[in-house]
Amino acid sequence: MNTDPVCEICRIKITYDKAPFKLTCCNKNICWKCGEELTKKPRDPCPKCIKNLSLEKDIKLHQKIIQKEFDEIEPKINSHHLNNFKNHQKNLEKIHNYYTQQRDLQDFNTLNNTIRILRKDQDIKMTGYVNQVCTFQTKFRDFANKIKSPEFYHNNLDEAIDLINEYKIFFKFKIEIDALSSTKIDEFCQTSLTNALNEKSLESLKFLLDYKDLINEHFTRNYFLLNNYQEFFKLLKENFEPVFENKWPVTPDMLTKRLKSKIENDEKFIKILLEVKLMHIETERTKLFNVLKHIYELIDTFYEEIRDLKETNQVKYDEVVFKIEHFLKYEFIDVELNSEMLEDFFYFENLIQKCSFKNFKNLFSDKFKIADYAQEVINDYVSNKDKRKTLRTLKKTGELMDTFTIGFDIAKMFSYTILIGISFANLKACPYKGFLLPLTMILLGVIGLLFTSTRFTISILST
Ligand SMILES: [Zn+2]
Ligand SMILES: [Zn+2]
Repeated sequence: MNTDPVCEICRIKITYDKAPFKLTCCNKNICWKCGEELTKKPRDPCPKCIKNLSLEKDIKLHQKIIQKEFDEIEPKINSHHLNNFKNHQKNLEKIHNYYTQQRDLQDFNTLNNTIRILRKDQDIKMTGYVNQVCTFQTKFRDFANKIKSPEFYHNNLDEAIDLINEYKIFFKFKIEIDALSSTKIDEFCQTSLTNALNEKSLESLKFLLDYKDLINEHFTRNYFLLNNYQEFFKLLKENFEPVFENKWPVTPDMLTKRLKSKIENDEKFIKILLEVKLMHIETERTKLFNVLKHIYELIDTFYEEIRDLKETNQVKYDEVVFKIEHFLKYEFIDVELNSEMLEDFFYFENLIQKCSFKNFKNLFSDKFKIADYAQEVINDYVSNKDKRKTLRTLKKTGELMDTFTIGFDIAKMFSYTILIGISFANLKACPYKGFLLPLTMILLGVIGLLFTSTRFTISILST
């Protein structure tokens, strides 16, 4: 059907919403409204051919019209779809270009945040649109395939009409992704949070809520990571428990004051390390949560100020902005090992690297592999036991050798001094021309003393 059928009486396009009529006397299509008018006066002649009126509902034409509506829906959705996607893509590109241009010109953190908000806004719109269109499309496709059978059409005529109506509404209120202009991006990114808040308008509240989203995201990501990291250490501690055999109770004193004496035992070192880490993670976790709570309270107070139009001045905006920006920069800082621990670090390098937050963060996005990883770390620890023993023995032998060398050097320096003393005495007692031998001895003694003391100083300094 190339042209839309038009009612031969009122000249209006025949629509899908009700079955049209056909004048069988003269084979003309008329709309359902005109058809129903004529059925009320069956004795009147046909208005088109003036013969005796004869008309019936044209089911076939109705089906054709409905089918045509259905056929048009999919391409229309697709073209709109494409348009939205293109605009979305272009907008993201524009935002990215703006970011690259301005990165070195504007305050980095503020720019970073505003860009994130802009991108998120685009993504939210797009996700909203895609969800909307997908829900409709699934329902529509399923129905459009079935309606081709005349039997299904007869039984589900009302649903088919409802679906077309639904589509018309959907199309009217669908989400449009508008193209962002560069000026708009610039305007948005130049608005500082402080200025926006000081305006105390609904607009500033929206800005603040955008930031709240960022804060939320940032919190969730970090909190999730910290929880996982904590979980990991709890598992490690649990699995190390058989190795510890309930020895070396770790007192809070040990953790806060840090160790004063060197750790003489591998397992004790591990135990203290685990406790220190666990305590640190817990502190950070609590801190993160409390800061978030505090910021939320500030935002709520601000919201109340706007809602009730009151000037409480409870909130200092600079402070809010500072807190928000600071929070958005939060990153977990791993526990620092104290000097005694660093000395032992050498033997546990592998273990400590594997347990470091940096490594952990790169490895994990999901929770389920943590147990496997904890097991891997422990297996690694056990299999490296011999290696650690050898390293320790080597270090001890080295230390012993150092002590010997220092002892020898002292003895040698002592001998050289005596040699020089005796040679001097000899030089004085020597007859004329017999001085050559003691002089050579003095020279040798001085050179020997010089070399030995140099090496002695070096070995003392290096231990
Ligand atoms: Zn009509
Ligand atoms: Zn007629």
